[in-house]
Amino acid sequence: MSTEDKTTKSNANTRVLVTGAGGFIGHHLVNALVERGFWVRGVDIKEPEFEPSIAHEFELLDLRRWENCLRACEDIDHVYNLAANMGGIGFISSNKAEIMHDNVLINIHMLEAARERGVSRYLYTSSACIYPMYRQNDADCAGLKEEEAYPADAEDGYGWEKLFSERQCSHYWEDHGLETRIVRFHNIFGPLGTWEGGREKSPAAMCRKLAEAGPGDEIEIWGDGEQTRSYCYIDDCVEGLLRIMESDHREPINLGQDRMLSINELVTIISDIAGKEIKRRYDPSKPQGVRGRNSDNTKLREVLGWVPQISLERGLEQTYAWIAEQVERKRLR
Ligand code: NAD
Repeated sequence: MSTEDKTTKSNANTRVLVTGAGGFIGHHLVNALVERGFWVRGVDIKEPEFEPSIAHEFELLDLRRWENCLRACEDIDHVYNLAANMGGIGFISSNKAEIMHDNVLINIHMLEAARERGVSRYLYTSSACIYPMYRQNDADCAGLKEEEAYPADAEDGYGWEKLFSERQCSHYWEDHGLETRIVRFHNIFGPLGTWEGGREKSPAAMCRKLAEAGPGDEIEIWGDGEQTRSYCYIDDCVEGLLRIMESDHREPINLGQDRMLSINELVTIISDIAGKEIKRRYDPSKPQGVRGRNSDNTKLREVLGWVPQISLERGLEQTYAWIAEQVERKRLR
């Protein structure tokens, strides 16, 4: 934060824009910012699906369009740019042209609009999908360190666009002095996230399948279930975002948990929470993504003196309860 920013601007006087505020992480972030006293404008192409936004202003704007980005950034101090066309592996593996088209437009226009409007800080949400495929071929792989992004071999489509936009953030700092922050999320999950429809990610999909299952039913798992991931609960994600925005760290940084487990282990934890014994049917024809992926949190610890705190079990208890409620509501409709 510039000296002026730090000394003269209280939270109440800091005007914050959250893009993607109708989505999962953006909606939770708006809540946390408002609770901390910031003035918040939320922007999205859709309203939040499950509860109304408490942002001071909420505008429906398509951020692929330049004039809408300029409007979104008007009189804004800090931008959290979360808007993206995205989803779980089922979605990103088969909609690459649309994803790259939409997200490149959002990100190049948002950066330029932020510069033109004199925004003092700009945070971009990238992804673990930027890491090279060749480091993720083994289910028992090492955690991914930030500097291992190159030589690049990102997830095709979604991951390459994220990497391109990370670089553009760095160039806006180098060439224009725009204070940029670049956060690489590793599988964020929690209540109020997409849980059906094809864009949901593995924790939500597994919670839904378990919630829908009757005693002795079978649930489908993509691949052999031995692919590994780490999962970070939404409250930790939001806390991390606020801390990274406040820090002076301009390089890309991981934000995730570093506890790696297989999809089979994830399903076992959720079955225990649900109190349901189920059978598993494996479908090798479905997309599985990389074989193994974990976050290395060395840099996060160094930079923030903080790492995510909430256990996977505690996060999944909250998430399962919320998804089970959605499933029940849908059944009664
Ligand atoms: P989400 O899909 O719930 O939210 C993204 C929001 O962006 C949606 O509400 C969508 O309507 C909005 N959006 C899409 N196109 C838009 C447009 N043209 N104009 C305005 N808004 C538009 O996803 P999320 O999980 O909340 O993800 C937020 C950010 O974090 C995204 O940039 C995503 O790529 C990144 N990310 C998320 C995860 C994760 O695990 N959830 C992992 C890695 C990166």
